[in-house]
Amino acid sequence: MTGPDSELDPAGRVDWLRELIHEHNQAYYERDAPIIADADYDLLIRELRFLEEAHPDLITAESPTQSGVGGSPSEQFSPVEHRRRMMSLDNAMDLEELRSWGDRTARRLADLGNDSTVRYVCELKIDGLAVSVRYENGRLVQAATRGDGRTGEDVTANVSGISAVPQTLGAGAPEVLEARGEIYLPLDSFQALRERVIAENVELAAKGNRQKPVPVNPRNAGAGSLRQKDASVTASRGLSWWCYQLGEIIGAEEPPAHSAALGWLGDMGIPVNPETKVVEDLDGVYEFCAYWIEHRHELPYEIDGVVIKIDDLAIQQALGATAKAPRWAIAFKLPPEERTTTLLDIQVSIGRTGKATPFAVLQPVFVGGSTVGMSTLHNEDQVRHKDVRPGDTVILRKAGDVIPEVVGPVLELRPSGLPEWQFPKNCPSCAEPLIRHEGEAQHLCVNPLCPQKRWASICHFASRGAMDIDGLGEQQIASFLELGLMSDVADIYSLQAEPILQLPGYQQLSVQNLLSAIEASKSRPLGNLLFGLNILHLGAAGGQTIAAAFGSLDAIMAASVEDLSAVAGIGPVIAGSVYSFFSEPLNQNLVGRLVAAGVNTVGPERSLLDQTLQGKAVVVTGSLAGFSRDGAAAAIKERGGTAPGSVSKKTFAVVIGQEPGASKLTKATELQLPLLNESEFLHLLETGQIPTTSHDQEAPT
Ligand code: NAD
Repeated sequence: MTGPDSELDPAGRVDWLRELIHEHNQAYYERDAPIIADADYDLLIRELRFLEEAHPDLITAESPTQSGVGGSPSEQFSPVEHRRRMMSLDNAMDLEELRSWGDRTARRLADLGNDSTVRYVCELKIDGLAVSVRYENGRLVQAATRGDGRTGEDVTANVSGISAVPQTLGAGAPEVLEARGEIYLPLDSFQALRERVIAENVELAAKGNRQKPVPVNPRNAGAGSLRQKDASVTASRGLSWWCYQLGEIIGAEEPPAHSAALGWLGDMGIPVNPETKVVEDLDGVYEFCAYWIEHRHELPYEIDGVVIKIDDLAIQQALGATAKAPRWAIAFKLPPEERTTTLLDIQVSIGRTGKATPFAVLQPVFVGGSTVGMSTLHNEDQVRHKDVRPGDTVILRKAGDVIPEVVGPVLELRPSGLPEWQFPKNCPSCAEPLIRHEGEAQHLCVNPLCPQKRWASICHFASRGAMDIDGLGEQQIASFLELGLMSDVADIYSLQAEPILQLPGYQQLSVQNLLSAIEASKSRPLGNLLFGLNILHLGAAGGQTIAAAFGSLDAIMAASVEDLSAVAGIGPVIAGSVYSFFSEPLNQNLVGRLVAAGVNTVGPERSLLDQTLQGKAVVVTGSLAGFSRDGAAAAIKERGGTAPGSVSKKTFAVVIGQEPGASKLTKATELQLPLLNESEFLHLLETGQIPTTSHDQEAPT
């Protein structure tokens, strides 16, 4: 980032930051199309606050650190004056800042002579758009965005089309009730919207028309979906709502505590997030935050933090608010999962089966807990759909354990004339032409002598999931290839001690260990050998399945495509690929050499157990007393079933252990799948039937 130097010209830097923040506020609040990721915006605010603290004379009432909230309401909607202001929240970036807030409020209360005990309400910070929904005599009459906190935008027609927002309230609704909450786009609605836009873009591109920007995150897509001129577009997007605050109340006594207000709102039929928890002290708050740092991805919607509110209304009133935010609440921000960075280049890597995969070379940034400088772009179509080009500013996302993803470009920052990226015509390793077969997404290097492919295929053969040869890693393989000690996987078994001993870093013992590890690999299961052979589309599970079904390498090599695709779990693509691999004389020769070297070619003993779960998918979530995670999966597979990691329409039953995953449970409930406890699971294993006593759809407590 450029701009004046903060040491040499702090005033210039402060002005520059304010101008930049103003531009970003407009893009975010008014156009729902931010130019930088939230974490990068937060860094600008932090820097401004830091400079203002160091140079108090530079503070002005209009500074974004001091003045009101959000952006100006758009003229596209009629203005709505909020009877009670809608505020922002102060942020705590870590537990230490949370403690400072706790200490600050305690000191302030002590100064006010208030010695009440403070209890906290912990809520999820839903990443969406704040709205205030006004009910008069139990009927929805108006909905407004937050706007600048005093004046919002009238989005009544749009909000009325969201099924989670009740049109009428239950019994006991007062004359006036304002319910404030977050309109958000659930993850499945976001995914559906993204897929719709990508499909539309394919058609637009085919006609040579300009493509539409693909939504990059649920927050902005949700805000954009709500602030539509045509309310029927809003209604089609699948938005939802969680209410978290009371606004104006007329004709009823305001409950004395925030938690009681939430209960009251819920009783009237307004959706209040069930993950809300009242805790007695800051330790309880930390526990809640720590839990959601770990479990945020189990929710079917995005959160960007936890909001902590002091429960007692009298204490809230005593503490009051600054110009921007109440003093009785704070947002604990979860670690950022999105950053903006520069796409320096797109390069192509050649994998073990010859697949040519484009990947992004990025200006490294810290996101989702690590520094990321590279990210796969999967294939040519993905690059085209995302429309990312070297030189673009891009949004990079790394959520939990998921691999980092370039979600899309920031079009506003694209330098003019930036050319579209073209998939290279030739392999970057051997310069032979890359081939893309009709109907396939992937380009391939089909040259069997391609150095990169050779290296990657040997590395894979020796890797843990395949033949597991300890001591034969990427570097060793590279130097053995370079010295001509091997040229394919079968050569591993003719390696001799003498020439290796000549290489730097090798001694008698290390060479002996390597040769012993190579010898030991000969007894690996047949499934591992199949996986190690680098057959296009065949993964580890597919290798095991085929090995178990045919029992020997001879039988597999003699099998037709039909025989192979008759195996449960093996589709026509894998069957075709396995068949053509073994039909290729070069591969037959390779396999012949491996067999001559003595690798194991016979399959596992077939299961003697009744195949009660043949073709059935059983998902296990949470821990079980009598099974480890792998043990439960093995018990299902030994009986012919599958044990996928996620719940879908195809799931036969879901086994619920201790501390089950929230998203699996929610999905299973949505799909009305049978939920089984451990003893019902045992019954299922034995009979393949759901016990009649199964507590269908009753989640365990
Ligand atoms: P905020 O988002 O940090 O916190 C306030 C908001 O939280 C409320 O208005 C409400 O909408 C929401 N919220 C969600 N769950 C809530 C709950 N349970 N209780 C109360 N409120 C809840 O503050 P802000 O002023 O709305 O926005 C500032 C943030 O917006 C920045 O930190 C940044 O992340 C983002 N922003 C990004 C850009 C950008 O260019 N990327 C620009 C402006 C703002």
